[in-house]
Amino acid sequence: MKIGIVGCAGRMGRMLVKAVHETPGAELSGGTEAPHSDAIGEDPALLAGVPASGLKIIDDARKLFEVSDAVVDFTAPAATVRHAALAAETGTALIPGTTGLSADDQAKIEEAAKSVAIVQAANYSVGVNVLLGLARQAAEMMGPEFDIEILEMHHRHKVDAPSGTALALGKAVADGRGVDLDKVSDRVRDGHTGERKVGNIGFATLRGGMVVGDHSVIFASDDERVEITHKAADRGLFAKGAIRAALWTENKAPGLYSMRDVLGLKG
Ligand code: NAD
Repeated sequence: MKIGIVGCAGRMGRMLVKAVHETPGAELSGGTEAPHSDAIGEDPALLAGVPASGLKIIDDARKLFEVSDAVVDFTAPAATVRHAALAAETGTALIPGTTGLSADDQAKIEEAAKSVAIVQAANYSVGVNVLLGLARQAAEMMGPEFDIEILEMHHRHKVDAPSGTALALGKAVADGRGVDLDKVSDRVRDGHTGERKVGNIGFATLRGGMVVGDHSVIFASDDERVEITHKAADRGLFAKGAIRAALWTENKAPGLYSMRDVLGLKG
């Protein structure tokens, strides 16, 4: 299967090129970068530290979509929205991992998914997708006497907060409680906030060093506390999961799929 990587010189882009190289059945069809990038004209494979591919990084995404069976996109929201439209126009499956999308950006991805298969996940690791299911079940089982807080830590270069995974965990626990996350989330606390509101779901964000991604869901009552934690050790983990998702799109009908579909997770 021919897989293209947009944003292939980025932190995740390089990992994705390496993961294509290491995955049987996957072949690199090319890579793009933003027009101003110094990486234009370079070999994406050499940048990723794997043997030369003979390909050159281009800035014309349409060309890449036309020669690919699937394109993997870990870039930035504006680019991902444009790539979703190109996926729909060219019939090329899309694996968008970009986080920090607005509701409007998300609506455009959902529109594109009416014409082509899209596997979107805030996190492509097996562990976090299991955690999403566990968090939802725990929230279903624990009543309002348990306050729910979501804590995440990432490296100093991350530009959006809370992380897409933290928000996905928030949605999972909100679904478990049968409430709308937008109506109950406390995303920032500063100054004289007043007491915690019963039923709210709180978020806390830490940034520092090279942390790949730590997430905890904390259920706290007066007498006890349950904490479920996931720690990613290497961002190659997300790249491997995304390439697995790309291979999974072969012959799939148009639609917006999740990593839980790819992994066949139940519950
Ligand atoms: P990064 O800044 O290192 O890489 C992004 C790359 O995209 C850059 O090289 C940039 O030049 C390129 N880019 C921007 N606009 C482009 C365009 N129009 N065309 C082509 N390339 C373009 O960032 P990163 O750490 O690799 O993260 C990228 C995104 O992936 C972030 O939103 C991050 O939160 C997300 N992410 C998701 C997961 C997941 O599992 N879903 C895991 C890790 C990171």
